[in-house]
Amino acid sequence: MAGQMVFPFAQPPPGRLSRAGGKGAPLSLWPRVSRAVVRVPDPRHHQFHIDLPAGQPQIYVHEGARQALIRRLELAQKRPVLLSVTDNYRQMISSSLREGILQARVHHMFLDAPAVVQEALVRYVVTQDRAASLVVGRYIDENGHRIRASRPVSTPLTTQGRTHDLLSLFQKLNLSYFGGAVDALITWGKRTKAKKPRRTIKLGSYSAVERLIRIHPVLDRPWVPRYFISYVIYHEMLHHVMPASHGNGRRMLHPPQFLARERLFRDYERALAWEQAHVTRLLRT
Ligand SMILES: [Zn+2]
Repeated sequence: MAGQMVFPFAQPPPGRLSRAGGKGAPLSLWPRVSRAVVRVPDPRHHQFHIDLPAGQPQIYVHEGARQALIRRLELAQKRPVLLSVTDNYRQMISSSLREGILQARVHHMFLDAPAVVQEALVRYVVTQDRAASLVVGRYIDENGHRIRASRPVSTPLTTQGRTHDLLSLFQKLNLSYFGGAVDALITWGKRTKAKKPRRTIKLGSYSAVERLIRIHPVLDRPWVPRYFISYVIYHEMLHHVMPASHGNGRRMLHPPQFLARERLFRDYERALAWEQAHVTRLLRT
């Protein structure tokens, strides 16, 4: 009987697509958007250092690991298996049975998953085992940072400003505070002429779907100290690593643990004092 078999999580269950996530949300094999960030090195971040092939980021599949996973699946399934490794951002696992052949598609994060996770993956694909789906779901959650952004960045990125180089500041912060693990992108925002004096100004922002940090170009001035720009970048990097929490049903962008971690920034007090002293000048710039 050649038929198509769609496993419980192969398609988003209606109303359960956990794109927003949050505590108490059903465990699902779909990542939260805020965690959906690219793992594959983005050529635009390296353009000044190394030549990478142009175009979209690519995944480099370890063929030995792919073959090993195929063997595990074939052993459990007792039939031939076709395995595709994907860089999907929504569907992490899918499989179907066609003419006696199991056709499976799995995200590349599973190729170097620990043995227990791979075993669970195999059990999940073969028997849709509930306990196995929990193990697999947890692994996907923990590896959300390896899932590429759900929307590619369309605007060109500019990191070298007239005065300040965002990429070098970003890289220093990444090493000092995040062990080099943050792979968000960064760019100067668009320069726009203010028609009338500003009343507020947003110095930095973070877009989770593009996993992109934008820094306001008013900061690209010789009189703006590097530690202040670093502080703004550091704050946005925290948004990248700490998804908004949903305590008390309210979306909190800066929950207490966020603020506590922000205070770990070396020049925290100094940066706040500088902002206080220069906010008027920033608004007029
Ligand atoms: Zn913020």
